[in-house]
Amino acid sequence: MAKGRIVIISGPSGSGKTTLYKMLLESPRLKGNLVKSISATTRSSREGEKHGREYLFISLKMFQHKINAGHFLESQKVFDNYYGTPKKVVKDLLAQGKHVLLCIDVKGAKVVQKIFPNAITVFIRTRSLSVLKRRLESRGQDDPDSRELRLKIARSELKEAKLYDFQIINDRLDVAYKQLEDFVANALVE
Ligand code: ADP
Ligand code: 5GP
Repeated sequence: MAKGRIVIISGPSGSGKTTLYKMLLESPRLKGNLVKSISATTRSSREGEKHGREYLFISLKMFQHKINAGHFLESQKVFDNYYGTPKKVVKDLLAQGKHVLLCIDVKGAKVVQKIFPNAITVFIRTRSLSVLKRRLESRGQDDPDSRELRLKIARSELKEAKLYDFQIINDRLDVAYKQLEDFVANALVE
């Protein structure tokens, strides 16, 4: 069986990564062969998020325990919380021939790329920081301090965009989605 590949999606908070990856997982062109790895996080769940679907929402103590147990492929502090990619789940899925989607920050992406140099990497961004600010406000899920921090970090994340295989400006959602689906589907058949 052909081995699966890693697909990494990064981009500033509010750029539309979650919206776009949820659409991508439904793509008939990928025939159910792309599976999202569920990260663990110490952040609280947002309204509508479900434990085990968007993330495993765990305590800081449990997170530290998992780090010590070597549970993570990579883990990072992003904004004020910790996030980590589960190692065994990812390796098992790849061994089964599934492609594994990671929606992770730019620091985590660098770590994963060293381990899996053939990972496919996509960076999602908005046309401008003011659009990003509006999207974070309209999502209505982060308090003003958290939004400020997310915008501040966005500036440094954007400097890393050029390291990705492909960049998408998420302006019109349908256009951005088509670009993402085309790029990933074509890259995975190579
Ligand atoms: P991220 O996962 O990158 O933090 P989200 O997917 O949560 O971003 O998107 C942030 C907000 O922007 C959400 O409210 C989402 O519905 C909205 N959004 C995403 N893409 C677009 C788009 N192309 N046009 C307008 N709003 C969008
Ligand atoms: P959010 O709190 O908005 O869901 O995510 C915040 C940031 O953490 C985003 O950039 C997201 O991609 C990143 N992130 C989510 N899971 C992981 C992970 O397992 N590892 C790393 N390094 N970053 C993650």
